Amino acid sequence: MILNIDGNINRYYVQTLCMIFFPGASFPEDEQPGPGVPELYVKLTKENGRFDAFARVTLDGRSVGTEKSRDDDGSYSEERCAKLAVGDAVTSALGELMEYRPSWGMLTGVRPSKVATEMLTAGISKTRTRRILTQDYNVFPKKADLAVAVALNEQRIIEDTSPLDCSLYLSIPFCSSRCAYCSFVSYTSKRLLSLIPDYVVRLREDLRSVMKLVRDYGLRIRTVYIGGGTPSILEPELLTFLLSAVREELDGREPEEYTCEAGRPDSITAEKLRIMKKFGVGRISVNPQTLCEEVLEGIGRNHTVEDFYRAYSIARESGIETVNTDIIAGLPGDSFRIFSSTVDGIIALRPENVTVHTFCVKRSAAINQRDNIYSMRGGEAGKCVDYSQIKLRQAGYIPYYMYRQKNTVGNFENVGFSLPGNEGRYNIYMMEEVHSILAIGAGAVAKFVRPASEGRKAQIKRFFNPKYPYEYLRGGDCAALVAAMRGAYEAPDVAEGEGVPAAAGAGTEE
Ligand code: SF4
Repeated sequence: MILNIDGNINRYYVQTLCMIFFPGASFPEDEQPGPGVPELYVKLTKENGRFDAFARVTLDGRSVGTEKSRDDDGSYSEERCAKLAVGDAVTSALGELMEYRPSWGMLTGVRPSKVATEMLTAGISKTRTRRILTQDYNVFPKKADLAVAVALNEQRIIEDTSPLDCSLYLSIPFCSSRCAYCSFVSYTSKRLLSLIPDYVVRLREDLRSVMKLVRDYGLRIRTVYIGGGTPSILEPELLTFLLSAVREELDGREPEEYTCEAGRPDSITAEKLRIMKKFGVGRISVNPQTLCEEVLEGIGRNHTVEDFYRAYSIARESGIETVNTDIIAGLPGDSFRIFSSTVDGIIALRPENVTVHTFCVKRSAAINQRDNIYSMRGGEAGKCVDYSQIKLRQAGYIPYYMYRQKNTVGNFENVGFSLPGNEGRYNIYMMEEVHSILAIGAGAVAKFVRPASEGRKAQIKRFFNPKYPYEYLRGGDCAALVAAMRGAYEAPDVAEGEGVPAAAGAGTEE
């Protein structure tokens, strides 16, 4: 796609708006006009306290131009005001050309609940927040309702936070086989899986180093999350080694939530879940993705529906309190009929958490090499997403966290639902960036959060651990992570004794 920008406009922002209408689009600098190549011109000016944005899009001989204005009346920052004018003009022009109205309007690159939270914490009422989302951001009313509901549930949970709080994340980027839609870094070949024992030993060493700093700085671990990949791929001996190390490092302090993902039903055994329970894990995921055999086969999940039911029943027998199940709307080969029966089947099991994702596939995923599965309108996925939200809410579940990704079928959202009181807190802390996430292991991204306080904006520093397990092992130690953590917690502008994680050291500032 060709982009021509005139004025002080963030190019990346315009690209993300374009991707609502052209999922999977790329924007090479040397793109030439031609058949099937959309061309967008955007101009922004400001005069007499008013932003005027103009957008013209041309595709295959058709051309649509739209002009939108927004008064900089102080309701928003100047930057936000300019973005709203540009977003309105671009989405209107592209929408008219493509005859499509996106349900999240011009909201892109930001979590809808974050926008709602900002308004609610600024004292704006629920009703007015909904109205602003629908009128200023062109969000559909049902999505505005969802954003407000999630924001209210999140707020309730994050009320009680302290600058000394943090969560611990351990990454196990290994799976027994690769799902066709996967774009995560996860090793699956026999040769690479043989790295697991060394990897777990190294993880244990890094955990020791990080936990030493946790004690030095007087931090409190609120949640522990072991994610992947598939952590339950670890054989009982290695699982025991890792979980006992976590237990030892926690030294008697119980986190309020301890999750170990056991996503792939084919990796779950009663023995592994017994070990998890013994070492204090209180939340696991058992993910069917769909309860349709043909759809599972199409996405290369390498397990059956029966495997899921078997694993779910082992999970219930294990006594682990909270079980999450992930399902995906908009999978290739799925339909409203199939998806709605998946939702009904999951609700009948009454797991404490149900996470409903919308199918999202990156260019690198095997399935995208096979079929072009990007879809702007999302076919029946919109109906599926609506069905899941209505049925889960009717069944007593509440939406407690939500995020969106680029290149998602229909641009729909991913929503975590919970029976009240069982919300997956790590998900909220991580999404809302209320405290630091001390992330260890290949591909894990640590976030050092300095919460906002009077007269000071929140700041976040990220630290990227080596992406691939072999790189991680080659690195030898976690000196860089430790240095980043020290930098964050010992920054000179933190008042003595304040104990606030300050932004400094390695990483990327937001
Ligand atoms: S289980 Fe998850 S991480 Fe593993 S291959 Fe499948 S999608 Fe990727």
